Amino acid sequence: MELNLTPLNLPSDQERAFIIAGPCSAETEEQVMTTAKQLAGKGCHIFRAGVWKPRTKPGGFEGHGEPALPWLANVKKETGMLIATEVATPKHVELALKYGVDILWVGARTTANPFAVQELADALKGTDATVLVKNPVNPDLELWIGALLRINGAGIQKLGAIHRGFSSYEKKLYRNEPMWQIPIELKRRLPQLPIVCDPSHISGRRDLIASLCQQAMDLGFDGLIVESHCDPDNAWSDASQQVTPEVLDFIVSRLIFRDTSEHTDRLKDLRQEIDELDNELIDLLAKRMKICRSIGEYKKESGMTIVQTRRYSEILDKRGAQGSLLGIDTHCIKNIFEHIHEESVRQQMEIINK
Ligand code: PEP
Ligand code: MN
Repeated sequence: MELNLTPLNLPSDQERAFIIAGPCSAETEEQVMTTAKQLAGKGCHIFRAGVWKPRTKPGGFEGHGEPALPWLANVKKETGMLIATEVATPKHVELALKYGVDILWVGARTTANPFAVQELADALKGTDATVLVKNPVNPDLELWIGALLRINGAGIQKLGAIHRGFSSYEKKLYRNEPMWQIPIELKRRLPQLPIVCDPSHISGRRDLIASLCQQAMDLGFDGLIVESHCDPDNAWSDASQQVTPEVLDFIVSRLIFRDTSEHTDRLKDLRQEIDELDNELIDLLAKRMKICRSIGEYKKESGMTIVQTRRYSEILDKRGAQGSLLGIDTHCIKNIFEHIHEESVRQQMEIINK
């Protein structure tokens, strides 16, 4: 499965990542322009603001819709920033493009619905839009990829993904669980696809934004989309997760951009060491399996059962404790030994049933 992509070429004030910033919602003409000017003053090049707001329950602020689009267009005219907004219907696409919105993003609730995504894809056909697709609310990588394929299939080549975390019934530290393994797997499957992290919707809390931004950079994400408001506490939506442009600037100034180039000599050497150790690990496992097969022969001859639970528990406990002494998580070791044990049992079964 391949996507047909061209680079986004978004302006970036950072060494490596581009940053999209702006309020959750476009509330008033003044709030939009004040926030945008403060962000532009801090060197930000891409402005976000929601014009159509998907709300969990009716009664909240659902966005001004079309009347707010000229406010974004003015931001572009006065500050030179690119402008971005969420689209959820073909009408949104048509209006956003009409007012010169540069980047359209598909929200998490929309990505979860293939009918809605296909309608958006059809509406985007023949345009030169840049589109970012948020992950669906549920942790379903295939659904996320499906949405990207539909939009790419409509000829949209300036395409990227936004990781905004996954909702869960049980509320934990984060508003939406990051489940980093999912965007990492997306990157593995579609290496050319740019991925942007949205620490605001992952965390739901402004005090967690800085560490999430750093984590995203450490994982090689291509950009960040952060909610920033001139008066966060009085925001009409998502107040607790927005930061002032000043705070955002501070967060960005502290980010460490590590080298992601694959070819540094040091990295090559270390990877070679890992490869050698992996070879040894497989050799050892094969030797271990050979002994397991001998045990299988013995059990067969003496009519014993294959799984002897006391011995199995002893291995898990002993190796779990040993692992933790050596700085490896006990659960991780137990999981590894569960898999090894499963394969030993399978091999012994083969012998016994021969
Ligand atoms: C937003 O970006 O303001 C938004 C509604 O995001 P999500 O679709 O990730 O909930
Ligand atoms: Mn929001």
